[in-house]
Amino acid sequence: MSIPSNISDIARQVQNGELRARQVAEAALAQAASNRDLNAFLYLSPESILKAADALDERRLRGEVLGPLAGVPIGIKDALCTLDAPTTCASKMLLRADAPIPAENPTTHGWRAPYDATVVARLRQAGALIFGKTNMDEFAMGSSNENSAFGPVKNPVDRARIPGGSSGGSAAVVAAGITPCSLGSDTGGSIRQPAGLTGIVGVKPSYGRVSRYGLIAFASSLDQVGPFAQDVRGAARVLEAISGVDPADSTSADLPVGAYEAACGRDIRGLRIGVPEEYFGEGLDAGVRERVEEAIAALERDGATIVPLRMPHTNYGIATYYVLATAECSSNLARFDGVRFGLRQEAPGATLGQMYGASRNAGFGAEVKRRILLGTYVLSAGYYDAYYLKAQKVRTLVRQDFENAFAKVDVLATPTSPTAAFKIGAKIEDPLQMYLADVYTLPASLAGVCALSVPCRPLAATPSQPPLPVGLQLLGPAFAEERLFQVAARWEALRTALGPLAS
Ligand code: GLN
Repeated sequence: MSIPSNISDIARQVQNGELRARQVAEAALAQAASNRDLNAFLYLSPESILKAADALDERRLRGEVLGPLAGVPIGIKDALCTLDAPTTCASKMLLRADAPIPAENPTTHGWRAPYDATVVARLRQAGALIFGKTNMDEFAMGSSNENSAFGPVKNPVDRARIPGGSSGGSAAVVAAGITPCSLGSDTGGSIRQPAGLTGIVGVKPSYGRVSRYGLIAFASSLDQVGPFAQDVRGAARVLEAISGVDPADSTSADLPVGAYEAACGRDIRGLRIGVPEEYFGEGLDAGVRERVEEAIAALERDGATIVPLRMPHTNYGIATYYVLATAECSSNLARFDGVRFGLRQEAPGATLGQMYGASRNAGFGAEVKRRILLGTYVLSAGYYDAYYLKAQKVRTLVRQDFENAFAKVDVLATPTSPTAAFKIGAKIEDPLQMYLADVYTLPASLAGVCALSVPCRPLAATPSQPPLPVGLQLLGPAFAEERLFQVAARWEALRTALGPLAS
């Protein structure tokens, strides 16, 4: 029995009975078992997945319509709350201090959320099979997935390399063909960058498009939940299912959800695509540039108008983001104090303050501590104006760059990342080098606009290197997701027509 790799085929066949949800689940579980070395899952319970699949099959037999994601397995980033599995943000902080960490399902003794995140509840309503919790950088802080308390994730394209981060596990499960789609979160690039580095599609919706209720907060003015998928249409279908206002999240926008899947396949004649000079400067790998320029040229041949332009504040993105995101995380992570959640370190005679300190010291990893320290510093009396307030002002300038650009063009096209996936360990000792990996993804997050990454043709293989994926980033005005899907689907078709690179 062959299982389609495509979301709409799976959903259709499960709904009309050609395929049982149980068969889909079994195939995905087999694929997960043969890719254990990726370390992509923190928790996967075959028992509960098969039970949920059987329940779907029974509902269908009773004549129910299961929904647009009928029987589709979806991996969930461990930053999202789920009723039937632990949620830990890949941190020891959300584990019980006195319980052992098993080799398989290391978060077994993790925190149990009392509710499903809204996006998870919406996926279940659409008929999806929630398929395990995926590994990530601790509290979503990182660009390589090496900051997980449970070990790094490997890139399925080349297991010596990082899959990107922070949603590295969610990207890896899709790239390895375990689940056709997954959910991640993107604060400064954590969906787009891993999608680009593993050769799949990843979408960061506009700020406010998708509910964050049940997403463990990192930086609340930036965080968004979004899908990964093998193909553009699949990502569009999942985004449609999770989008829309949510009374439980006051930052979710009360705006109609677009017809994202229907936008795929629309032609792009006359569409204006801006190419900002600042995204093609120093630091961009020559091979990556070539592949991105090839995609832009193909879109031009297809009828789009290419408009070169300037976005002069692009290079301030990193400095601005690392002030604002750390400030917000120092506040958001204050709740992990050893009292209300998970880990608690007690010593006889310790004061309350000592208990907080010992618990936070034992629970948080090095990068999370670095960010909390930085964030506390930039918010402290005497430094607030120089750092936090200043960064807010620069954020406005970054946002204005986008407003000016979108007055002239419909979408922007850039590389997703300056380089292809690097080797595990290559940048972990140098946080600044790691932060530079986000140079092209951070500005869109600061501006709150929508963005996605869709694969270019990969770099040419060399004797020591397989063809490494390259991402094309498309950016659109807030709530113009349909336009992104329209262009991305068109490029995907053009790429297929181009075929593989001659070697
Ligand atoms: N890599 C960036 C960081 O480390 C972005 C992370 C994210 O989007 N969650 O903060």
